[in-house]
Amino acid sequence: MKLQVHIFVLGPLATNCYLLRWGKECWVVDPSLWPEELLKFLRTAGAAPGRILLTHGHGDHIAGVGALKAAYPAARLCCPAADAGMLTDPVANVSATFGLSLSSPPADELLRPGQTLEAGGLTWQVLDTSGHTPGGVSFHCAEAGVVLTGDALFDQGIGRTDIPGADEERRPPSASRERTTPSCGAYNPCRPARAGIDT
Ligand SMILES: [Zn+2]
Repeated sequence: MKLQVHIFVLGPLATNCYLLRWGKECWVVDPSLWPEELLKFLRTAGAAPGRILLTHGHGDHIAGVGALKAAYPAARLCCPAADAGMLTDPVANVSATFGLSLSSPPADELLRPGQTLEAGGLTWQVLDTSGHTPGGVSFHCAEAGVVLTGDALFDQGIGRTDIPGADEERRPPSASRERTTPSCGAYNPCRPARAGIDT
C-alpha cells in the first residue's frame, strides 16, 4: 500500500504534526494546538485516524489530542510509557513554564522501545530517543525510508536537554544521530511545511 506522509505545522510553537495515510486509513503523530487545519483535511479526505502516536509528552506535541479524540473517539492514543504521566500534568509537560496549561486525555496504549507497529503492510519500529524527555521515541519505517523524530533530532542538532524532565546523559550518541540524519528520510521540526511525500 502506498504511504503518504503529510506535514502540518500547528500551534504557536510551529510544532510539526504528521499524518501517515494509506488509502482511507491513517495515523496522526504529535497533534499540537490549533489542529483545525488537520481536522479539516481529515474531514475532506474522509479519513479517520486509527491511532494517534506521540513521540514524547511535551505540551506542544499533545495539545491537539483532545480535539482529535472528540472528533474520532475510536482513535487509540499511543504514548511512550515513560512520558505517560506528562499527558495530564502541565508542569511535567512543561507547558506551565510557558504560562499555558496544556493536557491530553490519558493514553490508551503505552509504547516501549523495541516494539513494532504494523499498518498498511508497513512495519514501524519504536526507537529509544529519550533524553529530551524521559521516554521520547522515534518512529522508523525502514521500508518507506522514513523516521519521525519529534524533537529528538533537528536539521542542525538535537532537542534541548536543559529543560525539566530532560537528561543530558541520555542524549543520543553522535553515531546514532548520524544513522537517523534527514538523508534517510527523517522528518523533524526544521523541515519545510507541507513537504508531503509518497513512498
Ligand atoms: Zn519537546
